[in-house]
Amino acid sequence: MNATPALSPDTLHSQLVAAVGAAAVSQEPARLEHMGTDVYHAGGRPAAVVRPTSVAALQAAVKACAAAGVAMVPRSGGASYTDGYLYAPGGHVLFDCGGLDQVEVDVPNGVVTCGPGVSWAALRTKLAEVGLRTPFWGPFSGLVATVGGSVSQNAISHGSGAYGISAQSVLSMDVVLASGELITTSGSKATRHYGPDLTGLFTGDCGALGIKAAIRLPLIAKRDGFEALSFAFDEFASYHAAVRDAARAAIDEENFGVDLALSQGQIAKQEGVANKAKVAADLMRAAPSKLAGLKQLAGMAMAGEGAMRSGEWMHHFLIEGVDAAEAAAKAKKLRELMAPHGREIPNSVPGFVHTLPFAPLTNVLGPKGERWVPLHGILRHEDVVAFHAALEAFYAERESDMTRLGIWAGGMFEAVGSSGFLYEIALYWPDVRTAYHEQTLDKDFLAKQPVYPANPEARAYVAKLKTDLVALYSKFGAAHFQLGRAYPLRPKLDAQADALLVAIKAQLDPRNLMNPGALGLGG
Ligand SMILES: Cc1cc2nc3c(=O)[nH]c(=O)nc-3n(C[C@H](O)[C@H](O)[C@H](O)COP(=O)(O)OP(=O)(O)OC[C@H]3O[C@@H](n4cnc5c(N)ncnc54)[C@H](O)[C@@H]3O)c2cc1C
Repeated sequence: MNATPALSPDTLHSQLVAAVGAAAVSQEPARLEHMGTDVYHAGGRPAAVVRPTSVAALQAAVKACAAAGVAMVPRSGGASYTDGYLYAPGGHVLFDCGGLDQVEVDVPNGVVTCGPGVSWAALRTKLAEVGLRTPFWGPFSGLVATVGGSVSQNAISHGSGAYGISAQSVLSMDVVLASGELITTSGSKATRHYGPDLTGLFTGDCGALGIKAAIRLPLIAKRDGFEALSFAFDEFASYHAAVRDAARAAIDEENFGVDLALSQGQIAKQEGVANKAKVAADLMRAAPSKLAGLKQLAGMAMAGEGAMRSGEWMHHFLIEGVDAAEAAAKAKKLRELMAPHGREIPNSVPGFVHTLPFAPLTNVLGPKGERWVPLHGILRHEDVVAFHAALEAFYAERESDMTRLGIWAGGMFEAVGSSGFLYEIALYWPDVRTAYHEQTLDKDFLAKQPVYPANPEARAYVAKLKTDLVALYSKFGAAHFQLGRAYPLRPKLDAQADALLVAIKAQLDPRNLMNPGALGLGG
């Protein structure tokens, strides 16, 4: 059943104002457009945006929407691109959770409680004051992306080599259901695992089961020992074997790789002239000693940007240890493991990521100001090389159309534990910028970017490429994070598992008002 707005915009507005106050409700057209546009494209226009700053206000606004029978869609950092917070019919109430940004650090009990709108960058800064961190500590988009958004759609990157994805670093949550009632997902404050894992149910739900109001994460000590290593590979099969062997050895804190196309384009832009001074200053500040900082800077300067073009595929590892000796021992072991597959190259890229883990979101545009959308699949190791070959054939078949339309693609890779290989494809095409780009990016940065006219032909071609690529991933049995409305889930479940998922949705949201269509439920 589709949720349809039952009230005129005026009536709905006054009911929401009564629930949360005038300052927390907006119907301003530019804000509605911005909040209804993700990194990829625009969805249906919300009737109103509500920005609660307390859990009580969040519950009151949800109750008002429930009484009116209006669809509710949660958004936190807004840095996703899988239609997770886009509701095509429009007329919904969009919950901007960015105002729920409280952080309570409980050092004796080793827990931090975050509002869903806390960005990973803000959390890291706060925890650094007490020498602590969370095991998973954010995606690369963490300057903007939040704890609530990442836990809702399964995120990966910082800390993932050692501690897994966002969902694996959650102790418990408070979630506001479609009725406005609050559920706490664990009966224990000390552990998540007290009977069946109800916390896990709400991880990766893309907001289909409720709006997260608080998330409790475990705390661990920050470690001083650090090493950064990079390797280049000429053959995809040896590249994949190297990443698989490293993942099995479970040595790194995090790892990621890029192909030559992406390295020359997107990532190279990060190391552009404007950023270099800042990186140098950050490096010196972050280095355990001034001498070590100078040594690293000299290494980066010698390597230059050539390091980023050293092979067809380059993989980067960030390694931690309780002290320098442990980190060095791990680095030695990793070098031994990589030697049969590729060659070591200067470590300027992981050095850069170490000093600036949450870079400004300039990558939401391509190196020449093009539009950008990534998609990914998590493959079993035995399928990775065959998928890569099929992808090459896929591009070859479409080469003339892609060239004619100015569409190009690059690859990014990450191990997901020892059993999964994340193969990400980034698509670029010349097209007009959206409200998302205009609102998210710095005006000075935008002023320097080439501007393209609206390009509906290339845009439609990219949309078709996306659909066909998701089908290709599916053929190779890929799983996905960040499902939103872009990736299939239910067709991949067996009948019993699907029936259970549908029954859970019906129990928590019988009228299908909460993010209808996310995860393929209702909508
Ligand atoms: C430049 C760039 C780099 C990126 N790097 C990474 C990376 O390294 N790793 C990675 O995994 N991803 C990456 N991403 C994708 C994305 O930013 C992350 O997955 C991030 O976790 C999204 O968090 P967010 O707060 O922006 O979520 P949003 O975009 O706000 O929302 C994501 C989903 O969660 C739901 N949601 C949001 N808030 C709530 C809530 N309070 N309760 C319930 N549901 C909610 C939304 O409805 C939506 O379905 C990157 C994106 C960009 C633009």
